[in-house]
Amino acid sequence: MTRQRQAILEALKELPSHPTAEEVYNLVKKRLPRISLGTVYRNLDALVADGVVRKIDTAGAQRKFDTKQEPHYHVRCIRCGAVDDVSVKQTPSFEDMVLNRNGYEIRGFLLEFTGLCSECLKASEE
Ligand SMILES: [Zn+2]
Ligand SMILES: [Zn+2]
Repeated sequence: MTRQRQAILEALKELPSHPTAEEVYNLVKKRLPRISLGTVYRNLDALVADGVVRKIDTAGAQRKFDTKQEPHYHVRCIRCGAVDDVSVKQTPSFEDMVLNRNGYEIRGFLLEFTGLCSECLKASEE
């Protein structure tokens, strides 16, 4: 692992959950001032390919990254785009629930809850 990749991984772990590539870049830049945003993107993609980091590919405007390894789901605020983790009481096996008549081998699924975060809820009540 290169020094750059190591610094990016450290930044991902220090930042609040689900940072964007720009947020990672802004933190890494403090340690490696000459790093470019493109380099950060490339290294993030490599970390995703290695399975170290998950990319949250849901409908949010900006792609966010996640270092949490345990399976979990996300809730996204429809107003400000904040993303948080949610857990479900009983994990249904969606793979088994799918009526798969197309010959696909199901490898995963994307599930996203949407709503209003506590900040936006407060703002809408005022
Ligand atoms: Zn919000
Ligand atoms: Zn998460």
